Amino acid sequence: MQNSHTGCLFTVSAPSGAGKTSLVKALLEQDSHLQVSVSHTTRPMRPGEADGLNYHFVSQADFAALRDQGGFIECAEVFGNWYGTSKAWVQTMLESGSDIILEIDWQGAEQIKAWWPDTCAIFIFPPSHATLKHRLIGRGQDSEDVIQRRLSEAELEMQHYTLSDYLVINDDFQIALHDLQAIVRAERLKTGRQSQAQRALMCDLIPSLALRKP
Ligand code: 5GP
Repeated sequence: MQNSHTGCLFTVSAPSGAGKTSLVKALLEQDSHLQVSVSHTTRPMRPGEADGLNYHFVSQADFAALRDQGGFIECAEVFGNWYGTSKAWVQTMLESGSDIILEIDWQGAEQIKAWWPDTCAIFIFPPSHATLKHRLIGRGQDSEDVIQRRLSEAELEMQHYTLSDYLVINDDFQIALHDLQAIVRAERLKTGRQSQAQRALMCDLIPSLALRKP
């Protein structure tokens, strides 16, 4: 699938309440070359969410049918609901040279890394347990049961941070955002990518390269 303009693939994982969605939203607003994947989920829609924008909300049966057709690069059960990333969308975007971000849990990030080893995996941590708890309660979107369950799931999620290439601590939002921007920038400047993306410049500066295959 590699071609001369293959995009960068990023995964961003975090325990619920670490601020991942807000950080990714801010990152996307300031970087027109980045696109976020809209996952499929069997989770019920929350107030304020829109189908096709936050998620593609599908039934269990439709999700299973898509999965069985090989429609997902990765899928996982998180908090009792199923989530999956569209294979067709990711392949099309990468082949067209777009850089893409997947907001997914550690199980998904692990599957994506196996599928696409060049993936840049990022983990976001809250600055403390107390802050994590405060943020979860502060969201006010979920019932007490769900909050307690997510707190206990948070530790499990964080245990898997070692699979990531970068670890960002979201204490000060702007600093965490700058950290994410720095990671994206560094990833784009990797020599392997630059020698693909800047092929014409390479051949101009090093004429002998033009005689070799890209
Ligand atoms: P929420 O339902 O609160 O939006 O997300 C719950 C969890 O599911 C989060 O950790 C989120 O990153 C994860 N998630 C969202 N989309 C996907 C996906 O496509 N695949 C996987 N593996 N996890 C996802």
